[in-house]
Amino acid sequence: MYKEDVELAKKARLNSHSPFSNFQVGALLRCKNGHVYMGCNIENQGIQGLCAERTAFAKAISEGEREFESITVVGAPKGVEPTEACMPCGYCRQFMSEFVGDDFKVFIPNNGKIDEYTIDDILPHRFKI
Ligand code: ZN
Repeated sequence: MYKEDVELAKKARLNSHSPFSNFQVGALLRCKNGHVYMGCNIENQGIQGLCAERTAFAKAISEGEREFESITVVGAPKGVEPTEACMPCGYCRQFMSEFVGDDFKVFIPNNGKIDEYTIDDILPHRFKI
């Protein structure tokens, strides 16, 4: 399943709109019910753009999804095959943490292996109300 998620994240990455950074990111968000949502980064001039992770979550949440199993993230400069780890930014870490449980996994392909994290791994001592 996880190799399939990596391939879908790579496919999503090809839709990236990143004319400023030329850094293309793709994400595959898997829900506990088996539904999947793809996201890519979407940059713009005026304000902070959307990262691939938040694009995928926005698509899922707007379709009524609330139970999430995992997200797989890949990223690399345009025209480069993603092989190096592409970790979620701080904003996405906080955003995701507010919609997922302790069992949620973050999968990051990294030089031929897939690194696995929990939200607590990547955002310890996070803000909570
Ligand atoms: Zn981000």
